[in-house]
Amino acid sequence: MAEANNTPYPYEAPVSQGLFDRASQVTPGGVNSPVRAFRAVGGSPRFMVSGTGPYLTDADGREYVDLVCSWGPMILGHSHPEVIAAVQEAVARGTSFGTPGEGEVALAEEIVDRIAPVEQVRLVSSGTEATMSAIRLARGFTGRAKVIKFAGCYHGHVDALLAAAGSGVATLGLPDTPGVTGAQAGDTIVLPYNDIEAVRAAFAAHPGQIACVITEASPGNMGIVPPLDGFNAGLKAVCQENGALYISDEVMTGFRTSRAGWFGVDGVVPDLMTFGKVMGGGFPAAAFGGRADVMAHLAPVGPVYQAGTLSGNPIATAAGLAQLRLLDDAAYAKVDAVSEQLRGLVGEALTKEGVAHVVQNASNMFSVFFTDKPVRNYEDAKAQESFRFTPFFHSMLAQGVYLPPSSFECWFVSTAHDERAVERIAAALPAAARAAAEATA
Ligand SMILES: *Cc1c(COP(=O)(O)O)cnc(C)c1O
Repeated sequence: MAEANNTPYPYEAPVSQGLFDRASQVTPGGVNSPVRAFRAVGGSPRFMVSGTGPYLTDADGREYVDLVCSWGPMILGHSHPEVIAAVQEAVARGTSFGTPGEGEVALAEEIVDRIAPVEQVRLVSSGTEATMSAIRLARGFTGRAKVIKFAGCYHGHVDALLAAAGSGVATLGLPDTPGVTGAQAGDTIVLPYNDIEAVRAAFAAHPGQIACVITEASPGNMGIVPPLDGFNAGLKAVCQENGALYISDEVMTGFRTSRAGWFGVDGVVPDLMTFGKVMGGGFPAAAFGGRADVMAHLAPVGPVYQAGTLSGNPIATAAGLAQLRLLDDAAYAKVDAVSEQLRGLVGEALTKEGVAHVVQNASNMFSVFFTDKPVRNYEDAKAQESFRFTPFFHSMLAQGVYLPPSSFECWFVSTAHDERAVERIAAALPAAARAAAEATA
């Protein structure tokens, strides 16, 4: 392993820069997903060539401790030998058949086994597809049109769900997205997160019209903003009283915040759930599932159409299954412990430099807000001093720590983040905290 880079910021990354220039010629903004472009923090993105355990290596040969973990999926670290072996074994048998296969049955069984509210599940290829399909199913099942979502929650780039979305939409400060028509978004009701009275009021204002409430089980796309005590249970109750479905989006939290995701933490039983990220083991695999009577409305059993050429792909299901089978209680205990340690170290470094901050977490998912008040919703998140994050981020990057390039994103750790990786992060924090302290708006 190379030693940590301590080159002061800014520093050159000529190979990455050359690739970014090439990419920008043929791809809008040079990236295939907006947050990767570093727009919120400036500079140009690092092009990664390999990953091992908690480390990534970029095209210039620099090594970083990775605190993005592919935005969550790499919960066992990069290139876990058992996941790689499962992939190689699957690849050798062929890459796609367009028929049912045993791997997808085994993955579905693993999901149903882990997550009690999921009686049946349908596999898809991305979290976006999962939430899009769950919304369609909820509308088909209830015969109603309207959908409630919360400001700052991100559910993929589904037309109807892009209103006041988190993640890249928050990072880039985009208003409503052009290209989404009034017809597509007009049935979406956007409410402030953690405000159950607003939800009651919306149901009262639209009697018999609301198909579902969709929420991140514990939001991670405006930074980490956990539900207040009783909020999810309240959502479930209001939905039940009004004949609407409660959809818990566990694309980020699923198989990460516990063996049974956020459901395993708060125990609130949703009607439908969505999954992605961890369950694909680094491949495009996602899912939606829940009550069998609701799932029975899906084609080919029921009338609600949903399909996918590569759904249940044998490589993706092999990788996902291998990863889930390695995620036992000991693995979660390890990820939780590393997260706790890092939260402590970040808080200490910022406190020492007198930087106002709160570190919020939802089990092992965490993020840092540059503010002195607890963050309970998107308005609170936007009120932070984001300008302090930019020099903090670049200082960490220059010292070989790869953070999410936005102050609205979750930091992710893995079972592979060992003492050595933590020490490297700890060594980088004092200078980064100083940079944050010295930042001016
Ligand atoms: C990442 C994410 C999605 C979208 O998943 P993709 O695979 O990127 O389409 C949806 N919901 C939540 C909560 C997410 O974090």
